[in-house]
Amino acid sequence: MEKKLVLHFPPILVDKPMISTLIRDYDLDFNILKAFVSPEEEGVLVIAFSGTEENLDKAVNELKSKGVTIQLIESDIRMIRDRCTDCSVCVGLCPVGALILDRETYEVIFDAKRCIACGLCIKGCPAKAMVSSI
Ligand code: SF4
Ligand code: SF4
Repeated sequence: MEKKLVLHFPPILVDKPMISTLIRDYDLDFNILKAFVSPEEEGVLVIAFSGTEENLDKAVNELKSKGVTIQLIESDIRMIRDRCTDCSVCVGLCPVGALILDRETYEVIFDAKRCIACGLCIKGCPAKAMVSSI
């Protein structure tokens, strides 16, 4: 089976070779979809792991035990339109263009299909208009 995850590495873990150890120990394949360092110097890795369900669960638990925060890609990020002031702060934060400023209406539009659930807009939105139900 395959799991697409967003891994948030605190600054203290950014330089550690955790993924290579993990794929060796749990016999996983992987595909890195996106990697970047957030403004808070947190490492963010969007990755698809494949392997047996048991080994995937063990690998996820090991990452969590080492301080990595994990989100499933399918997590439910949404915009609460009534709260949004169209300030555009999130447009600059989103690494995949899931938040777009409509140049005609000056409204910020959320494209859920592009969202990789990195959580940067949730942290950055001054109006708390971007939320996750997880
Ligand atoms: S940062 Fe928040 S308030 Fe500003 S445009 Fe984005 S969702 Fe709307
Ligand atoms: S969580 Fe927010 S910043 Fe991250 S990809 Fe989705 S819309 Fe963009």
